[in-house]
Amino acid sequence: MDRDRILLTPGPLTTTLRTKLAMLKDWGSWDADFNAITARLRGRLLDIVDGHDTHVVVPLQGSGTFSVEAAVATLVPRDGHVLVPDNGAYCKRAGKLTQMMGRKATVLPFAEDQPVSAAAVDERLKTDASITHVVLIHCETGTGVENPLADVAAVCRKHGKGLIVDAMSSFAALPINARELQFDALIAASGKCLEGVPGMGFVFIRKAVLDACAGNSQSLAMDLHDQHVYMGKTGQWRFTPPTHVVAALDEATAQFVEEGGQPARLARYTDNCRTLVDGMAKLGFKPFLKPEVQAPIIVTFHAPAHAHYDFKRFYDGAKQRGFILYPGKLTEVETFRVGCIGAIGRNEMQQAVNAVAETLAEMGIPDGTPAR
Ligand SMILES: *Cc1c(COP(=O)(O)O)cnc(C)c1O
Repeated sequence: MDRDRILLTPGPLTTTLRTKLAMLKDWGSWDADFNAITARLRGRLLDIVDGHDTHVVVPLQGSGTFSVEAAVATLVPRDGHVLVPDNGAYCKRAGKLTQMMGRKATVLPFAEDQPVSAAAVDERLKTDASITHVVLIHCETGTGVENPLADVAAVCRKHGKGLIVDAMSSFAALPINARELQFDALIAASGKCLEGVPGMGFVFIRKAVLDACAGNSQSLAMDLHDQHVYMGKTGQWRFTPPTHVVAALDEATAQFVEEGGQPARLARYTDNCRTLVDGMAKLGFKPFLKPEVQAPIIVTFHAPAHAHYDFKRFYDGAKQRGFILYPGKLTEVETFRVGCIGAIGRNEMQQAVNAVAETLAEMGIPDGTPAR
């Protein structure tokens, strides 16, 4: 097959030809032309959250997790104490990396099919004054559930605690406004809803807490304060930038603006999600989450109960037909996931449903009905 397959995954995503073509050029990392791209990109990122007055944005090399780790290391003092409300795999990852950075971490567990509770966070902050920061995963990509960012932000503000938001899979799709929402740091990456290619993250840091971040990081490469100061002085990244990734993200953000920004992107993803869920329902498939807690980013489906079902064969069948699915991340129930994000629309989602229908038929499975 000479056409790229459609990626129905939470990143890397299907990108536009324009974004891909932006990578066909070599840039010198010290060159003024490249520095101008970095500066323009940082400005556009701040535009998206209306954050020019309140925040700076610091890009960092690496996948999204590198930026989460860097945000914790940079924002949280070494004797800090982080509360991590946990309703899924990315929450657990945030708790683990916080601990590995040498910060105290308390994980507050919730059910995987429910949003975390802001009231429970409030209660915990009331009873444990030693907590300095809360790390919240906005959209828990492990299941696709949306967590109550505004409510948790209000609770953190009330208690005077720092809030670090992993908005990796929600940024640019779900509304986030830095004027309405107080957060100390918010993390996203190039290869998610901005529809760039993977390879860099970026962290919005509240100006009011920036100076106090100096010297917190125990890591040289992950020190966002240092990256910010250096970039401010020189216009350059501290260490080799992912030049092609930056150029692609610059082009992707231009298209994001042309499309109509965050509201337009949310509308397209919402339509993708509805097309997918409705089409799959006709085949008997059942989503793991209730519709009211489902973010239009990625949908977890129960695996069919039929004895012939096998994820590997199912995956291969969809792949042969041009679609890349994603395995489930739950330990107790068998599931698979289908992303709704990327440079795709209703037609691609409908074709994906058709590919699933054909694959089921090929496997001798009459429909996708899960176990009771
Ligand atoms: C994608 C994602 C990350 C980062 O994962 P990487 O594999 O490091 O890019 C972190 N948090 C959430 C919620 C994500 O969706």
